[in-house]
Amino acid sequence: MLVSIAGLAAARRIPFRQPFRPRNAAYARAAATATPTANATHICDVCIVGGGIVGTALACALASNPITAHLRTALIEAGDLFSHAGAANQEKTALNFSNRVSSLTPRTRRFIDRLGAWTELADRARPYGIMQVWDGVGNGQIRFTSSPSDPSDPAIAHIVENIRLQSSLVARLGATKVFNRTSVSNITEEGGLPRVLLADGSEVRARLLVGADGGNSRVRTYANIESIGWDYGQKGIVATLQVETGINGNDTAWQRFLPTGPIALLPLDDTHSSLVWTTTPALASRLCALPPASFVDLVNVAVRAAWPDVQFLTSAVGAAGEPPGDCNEEARWALDRAAGSDLDALTPPRVLGVDDGSRGAFPLKLRNSERYVAGRVALIGDAAHTIHPLAGQGLNLGIADAESLANVIAEGVEVGQDIGHIHLLESYATQRFAPTLAMLKSVDGLSRLFGTDAAGVATVRSLKLNLADAAGPLKRIFMDFAGKA
Ligand SMILES: Cc1cc2nc3c(=O)[nH]c(=O)nc-3n(C[C@H](O)[C@H](O)[C@H](O)COP(=O)(O)OP(=O)(O)OC[C@H]3O[C@@H](n4cnc5c(N)ncnc54)[C@H](O)[C@@H]3O)c2cc1C
Repeated sequence: MLVSIAGLAAARRIPFRQPFRPRNAAYARAAATATPTANATHICDVCIVGGGIVGTALACALASNPITAHLRTALIEAGDLFSHAGAANQEKTALNFSNRVSSLTPRTRRFIDRLGAWTELADRARPYGIMQVWDGVGNGQIRFTSSPSDPSDPAIAHIVENIRLQSSLVARLGATKVFNRTSVSNITEEGGLPRVLLADGSEVRARLLVGADGGNSRVRTYANIESIGWDYGQKGIVATLQVETGINGNDTAWQRFLPTGPIALLPLDDTHSSLVWTTTPALASRLCALPPASFVDLVNVAVRAAWPDVQFLTSAVGAAGEPPGDCNEEARWALDRAAGSDLDALTPPRVLGVDDGSRGAFPLKLRNSERYVAGRVALIGDAAHTIHPLAGQGLNLGIADAESLANVIAEGVEVGQDIGHIHLLESYATQRFAPTLAMLKSVDGLSRLFGTDAAGVATVRSLKLNLADAAGPLKRIFMDFAGKA
């Protein structure tokens, strides 16, 4: 039976029920890891291209909902999903943290929990109850503390290693047919259905094709959906830092806005934090090549010292990562100058070291697809939109897409509608397009607001930040980012 959009909108929303637990876990594992035959044609209901966290979360959501568990779902991933799981297990036992982490909002955490994938993560997920944001040029600052009105979920957010989240989801794929280490070589259409050609010679035809294949989405190209946006001309340096333990442990997320981009220290445990330092591509490659001790000196300077000192020292780093003069001496001088000032009173933890091999740099861009759906196609995660990481929202938005699309598919199944029909998919696009666009705009606006050291702008900006700290709409925007508003 076909129902209209209006009918669907009026229909009761189907929340995720308790996670569907297969009666026989061994069967579920075997089904999930079964390698589909090469050179064959596979007919599916839902074909998800891209087994990153977002695509895997969608597959888990479909598998865990009794309404959609019977659907034939295929997940195609070019990388090795199961080696991620092995690596995550090794990292679980080892003390070292992965350098790719995400700040998950309470909403995301609850969804992951409903999928049954949170418990396994909980021992290494680091909740933080305080978020301190401050201006690297003026003296503006804003501080958030977790809301006592929500005692069941008091953290502002949790920091989680991506690899562990991924492995926890992979273990819950149920009967999903996984095409592991298989890339999509082409997508065509046959008989009105998308036909996904795989590098091993086989093909998948599906009623619904989902693009979860990241920023350079092949599915998006197939659907002829334009992606609009720009590159920031910045890179985000990530690294795992050893930090000194604060009086209250390491329970605060710190973010300082420098004119070259924000630098954030996100807590991993009492003695480790994850770094995300946004800066120019040239400086990013120099900083990544610096000897570890000099890198640590410059992180301390960037987090604590006056902006002119940060500028002076970072601009003196050589093209091949040669430290500036006597880097340690210069850094100590800059930090001594900051000691006792308003800046120093913010007291982010002092960085003591950087884990070997943990430095990496990623180009940053803003992109939004002109549409998130087309006939028999839906885009989710970075395939649909890419956002600056300063508010830690990219993955949260992508997981919200997966949740929304899974709900819409379940609604379609419940009323017997064709799950690839554009009328049904429009319902997903309606839920996700406007809030995502609003988030993209806010984050882009913040990045521009802080991306200057012009004296007048810096003064007004600091004033606004301080006012917002007392009360105000800016604080509400930040709390929206943190998913607490
Ligand atoms: C420095 C940095 C820090 C960040 N911090 C945060 C944070 O704190 N919080 C947050 O919410 N977000 C954060 N993000 C954003 C977040 O990392 C991304 O938004 C998220 O990882 C996107 O997930 P995805 O699954 O949509 O895409 P991806 O992770 O890009 O996954 C796409 C998958 O598709 C596969 N694929 C691609 N093409 C094909 C093909 N042809 N065939 C088969 N498979 C294919 C790829 O192998 C890949 O596994 C950060 C980003 C950066 C750069």
